[in-house]
Amino acid sequence: NSQLTNGVGAQLDVKIGFIGAGQMAQALCKGFISSGLVDVSNITASCPAQDVPENIYPVKGTRVFHQGVRMTTNNSEVVVASEIVIIAVKPHIVETVLREVSPAVTKNHLFVSVAAGITIAEMAEWLPVGTRLVRVMPNTPAMVQCGVSVCSPGPHASPKDVSLVLKLFASVGIAESLPERLLEAVTGLSGSGPAYMYMAIEALADGGVKMGLPRVMAQRFAAQMVMGSAKMVLETGRHPGDLKDAVCSPGGTTIAAVHRLEKAGFRCALMDAVEASAVRSRELG
Ligand code: NAD
Repeated sequence: NSQLTNGVGAQLDVKIGFIGAGQMAQALCKGFISSGLVDVSNITASCPAQDVPENIYPVKGTRVFHQGVRMTTNNSEVVVASEIVIIAVKPHIVETVLREVSPAVTKNHLFVSVAAGITIAEMAEWLPVGTRLVRVMPNTPAMVQCGVSVCSPGPHASPKDVSLVLKLFASVGIAESLPERLLEAVTGLSGSGPAYMYMAIEALADGGVKMGLPRVMAQRFAAQMVMGSAKMVLETGRHPGDLKDAVCSPGGTTIAAVHRLEKAGFRCALMDAVEASAVRSRELG
């Protein structure tokens, strides 16, 4: 976790509330606390009584909401107790929730929504005029502190608000700010992207099994190899094409495989995937 804590400075003295206590809220909460950025006593979270984390996620990782985070079933109570309110309910519930808490919202609140496809303009309609708002597109690897989060400020968010949100989301991976119109592209790449990589890992493991490796080992090797290759790109700063060239010896094994991938339209399939997801998110938005 050293890499994670490096970028994070002193603890933030800010009260944070989650409306919705599902997977994304849980991942973010875990990141904020484990990076040392936010003290657990400053966090409040709400969800309907029947959904308290114990009941929905009986397996693992739910304890964060129980160890010191104050839980409530009253969304407005979260707003009253917090300066930053993170909206982490499913997209179709955002309107209901924002209309419901709207009377409790003041100029001191900063709203941060992670709901996919719900625009800043839509949310502004459901909140009091002038509410400070930042929309964020995170992805699920935030759960293992390797997420990609892109935030887009609404018209009333200050540069300070944006840097605060960036700091918070940097505790669960990398975080950048971009104009809202680019969030569709972000959805296609980092938002939906984990699914493409899970498929690649599964298929690579199948290849290993076909050539005689035990399944469990093949899958572990595939996942580690994907992580290692990603780290090479991120940590060396070298162009991926350059790194690829470096592992292709003349007349060797890797260039034979690369030829097969090109023949199968590997690059084109990935570009199409990003485009298809981005176009779909535009349709849903
Ligand atoms: P989830 O179903 O795990 O969590 C939703 C939470 O909202 C649950 O705790 C549920 O009890 C709660 N909830 C339902 N109705 C509520 C209400 N009226 N008031 C308060 N809480 C209520 O979903 P998730 O995967 O955590 O997704 C949450 C949001 O995060 C979505 O809008 C999604 O678009 C966004 N998001 C998720 C991912 C992801 O990969 N999981 C990635 C990017 C963005």
